Amino acid sequence: MSISLVVPCYNEEENIFPFFEKCLEVFKEEKDIEYIFINDGSKDYTFGKIKELIKTYSKYNIIGLNFSRNFGKEAAMLAGMKKSKGDYVAIIDADLQQNPKYVKEMVRYLNENPDCDEVACYQEKRKESKLLIFFKKMFYSLINKLSEVNFEPNASDFRLLRRNVVNSLIEMEEYYRFSKGLFSFVGFNTYYMPYQVEERLHGKSSWSIIGLFKYAINGIISFSLIPLKFATVFGCFSFLLSIIYLLFIVVQKFTVGIDIIGYPTVVCLILFFGGLQMIFLGIIGEYLGRTYIESKKRPKYIIKNEINFNNLRGGGTNEKN
Ligand code: UDP
Ligand code: MG
Repeated sequence: MSISLVVPCYNEEENIFPFFEKCLEVFKEEKDIEYIFINDGSKDYTFGKIKELIKTYSKYNIIGLNFSRNFGKEAAMLAGMKKSKGDYVAIIDADLQQNPKYVKEMVRYLNENPDCDEVACYQEKRKESKLLIFFKKMFYSLINKLSEVNFEPNASDFRLLRRNVVNSLIEMEEYYRFSKGLFSFVGFNTYYMPYQVEERLHGKSSWSIIGLFKYAINGIISFSLIPLKFATVFGCFSFLLSIIYLLFIVVQKFTVGIDIIGYPTVVCLILFFGGLQMIFLGIIGEYLGRTYIESKKRPKYIIKNEINFNNLRGGGTNEKN
């Protein structure tokens, strides 16, 4: 079985060599293995380090893809999967938070279970703040209620996929890629394997709270149309309420007479409904904006150059996808 390791790298200059050396230790006996490092527009010397790695370990099959700018981890994973040739494709971070020894375990599992198409690692114990754990739990329960596909809480992008799964993922052409949803969408038999996340070796995580929030919104919009239906449901509800209130006023007028309704009530109602309309417009706008971007069919990433041992200088390829 040939294995491809897809490694997205953003500002990982200090991690490239330790990561690769750890892999060498783990995959000593593995003959047919390719390493695909994707430099996702790093601001540091990451691509230089990838070049040095290819030069130093010239007898290994290492490929370096260099993006023209930062396109995000999702794009890097896609580029790596498209480049990969292995029967099994592993997606793994460059920062050694995900120990390559688990890839070996995943390979063993797929070898022993021909019916299984994919192994996904999940964190049994999260080493995160209580607040973040709470928000992630809320997100999964919300997205599972809103979406038709099932999202496995805590499952990460750290996975081993058979070639048929990779091919299906590559066929998904969307610009806004939310891999957690894409993995669920394509289906296949998935085994969830617990793993222990380790500390980042060097550098810092590229996620911020705002980034995570945007990512969560992107996930919901990419995999559910239900937020668009909120406006209809609420509109029907308030319409019904207004009819009941109208009837109430007519009856009141002809029985006990009518009081003048207070000014504050009117102001509150205007603000309430005005605000709600804006929120619903915003939700529609989010979907519309994405449809607009998707319709442009812009490339999801641009590869400035590709290097391997035969081509260390990496002539410009300008490959798009
Ligand atoms: N990464 C990437 N492009 C980005 C951000 C991150 O390729 O725009 C890579 C990064 O180099 C790492 C992996 O994605 O290999 C996970 O990123 P990070 O460690 O920042 O995320 P965390 O582990 O904190 O979830
Ligand atoms: Mg990390």
